Amino acid sequence: MEDTTKDLLSQAQAVINLAASQEDLENIRIGFLGRNGKMNELMAGLLHVSPAQRGELGRVLNQAKREIELLLSKKEEDLLSASSNLYFDPTEPSIKPNLGHLHLITYAAREIMDIFERIGFVRVRHPEIDSDYYAFEALNMPAGHPARDEWETFYIADNLVITPHTSNGQVREMEKGYLPIKMINIARCGRRQSDVSHSQTFHQFEGLYIDKGVSIANLKGVLEYFARNFYGSGRQTRLRPYDFRFTEPSFEVDVTCGLCGGSGCSFCKGGWLELGGAGMVHPKVLRAGGIDPRKYSGFAFGWGVERTYMMKAELSIPDIRILYKNDLNFLEQF
Ligand SMILES: [Zn+2]
Repeated sequence: MEDTTKDLLSQAQAVINLAASQEDLENIRIGFLGRNGKMNELMAGLLHVSPAQRGELGRVLNQAKREIELLLSKKEEDLLSASSNLYFDPTEPSIKPNLGHLHLITYAAREIMDIFERIGFVRVRHPEIDSDYYAFEALNMPAGHPARDEWETFYIADNLVITPHTSNGQVREMEKGYLPIKMINIARCGRRQSDVSHSQTFHQFEGLYIDKGVSIANLKGVLEYFARNFYGSGRQTRLRPYDFRFTEPSFEVDVTCGLCGGSGCSFCKGGWLELGGAGMVHPKVLRAGGIDPRKYSGFAFGWGVERTYMMKAELSIPDIRILYKNDLNFLEQF
């Protein structure tokens, strides 16, 4: 029993030495000296030894108990003085901060921009809260025009909207007064819709290219270039006729599905995924920006950053709104 006591004492010494906080010490105290602690276990053993030995062993145990108490209070003092006398040791290895990473949308926007920069597009910024004029009127959608209904817009004042698309940057860019224009405007947009595939806040990237002799062939070339660089060399695009007020002709742009390679699967619609709208800038829009449509022509496209990225990653997330919920369980996967 004397040996067991010695073992217990050296055990206590070891853990007390390693203790780093008052909380550690308290746990150690409970473990050794508490009601169900190791010391009481040994004390209970005294009942089974002969009365002759009992006195001597009791003395040894009490001695050990006092020593543990002493060690605990000494360590407590050490911890207190260490925390009040912080010193700086430049040779000590530093504590590495817990680094996070950028948000998925930021990554996506940067990757998209990298691709367009290589063919001479420049990233510009235009207001995310803008007047009705730039968001609609200058884009050939006068007040009261039914086409406006498709953009379920937040009005924050009579004449001021949270831009429902990045196209408000088109006429603003033209008004800067230089040509040719090769811009990408990436910005936050807002629309009233909120469901599993729509978030009230989302991002778009808007491309605008205006110069002499720009044709649909140029638009198609740029779209193919983007699709191959962003989605992979095997991907193809197609243009479907559509109707937008600010482009003529207008198209919806599709890209072949990366999962089935274009043969059709449950993720896509018959082998194709819808990217978004594009078209040749409407002459009225050019005029609104002070550009003569008899001399210049151009194309524009505007797609959702979230959607474009989801399609690349073949991420079939059940609810797009999770992107804006700051849910670390989701975000830390990327
Ligand atoms: Zn598919």
